[in-house]
Amino acid sequence: MTAKLISGTDLSKTIREELKGEVELLKEKGVHPGLAVVLVGDDPASEVYVGRKAKACEQLDIYSEVHKLPETTTEKELLLLIKKLNVHTDIHGILVQLPLPKHISEKAVIDAISVEKDVDGFHPVSVGNLMIGDDSLLPCTPAGVIEMIKREGIEISGKHAVVIGRSNIVGKPVSMLLLRENATVSICHSKTPDISSIAKQADILVVATGIPKMIGADCIKEGAIVIDVGINRMDNGKLCGDVDFEAVKDIAGYITPVPGGVGPMTITMLIKNTLEAAAKSLV
Ligand code: NAP
Repeated sequence: MTAKLISGTDLSKTIREELKGEVELLKEKGVHPGLAVVLVGDDPASEVYVGRKAKACEQLDIYSEVHKLPETTTEKELLLLIKKLNVHTDIHGILVQLPLPKHISEKAVIDAISVEKDVDGFHPVSVGNLMIGDDSLLPCTPAGVIEMIKREGIEISGKHAVVIGRSNIVGKPVSMLLLRENATVSICHSKTPDISSIAKQADILVVATGIPKMIGADCIKEGAIVIDVGINRMDNGKLCGDVDFEAVKDIAGYITPVPGGVGPMTITMLIKNTLEAAAKSLV
């Protein structure tokens, strides 16, 4: 393997140590940061994610509440809970774990979260602020991707970044953040012909398609920085990314593993957002 591994697990440990100090400072100023996580239904993967978020809060002495609601919860009931959390003074961040059951409108729920407490960064106002470059809470996975690149000491400005995937939670926001960092950004999606020829031009390649190992050696420029956002469970129960790690590791300059790459960074950025929201409540 010639590529340098960017470990989200190691980086997260370092950042979380730094955040511990911020929690202490906030407490000295009279604010104990608090996060509310809402889970509707019993999707096993969502339960794991929610558990990890609550554990991270516990480790950093952040107050957290997990609201586990049954699958039969109505949209009205969920909106009522959000309304209560919006005015709850111990809560600075609200995260509703997605996906929601089909009978509940995700849009209605996201829109109902107070922008100041929108630690997932999915509210239309947060998204708009990201577009125009205003201060806002940034979506966690895209923010984690940028943090990984920067902490590795890699200059983004002037680079050609290619993002594969254009979802609202990963592809689009990560593209905007790369643009904000002065990269030249190309966005590919399912209707893009000949993706490999575009990907091969990338100095920085971010892949978020949800297609296991879709990116192979033919898509990688020698020395490229490859950030694999994908998390896919294979038939053997193991996790793999959207990048074929084994095929790419000898061509890329840097690569993120799955698991242990972007995943842990997402939770770390959630904690960072919660502290940011708590700090703003002081102003
Ligand atoms: P998504 O909403 O399903 O979006 C997938 C995107 O990939 C779409 O824009 C789609 O294009 C594009 N795509 C699909 N097939 C393609 C193809 N053959 N060629 C090029 N583009 C293609 O998925 P997502 O929510 O962004 O998640 C993507 C992956 O990241 C998943 O594996 C997910 O589990 C993972 N993820 C990880 C984290 C983390 O914390 N590490 C967080 C979120 C998501 P169209 O728009 O044209 O359909």
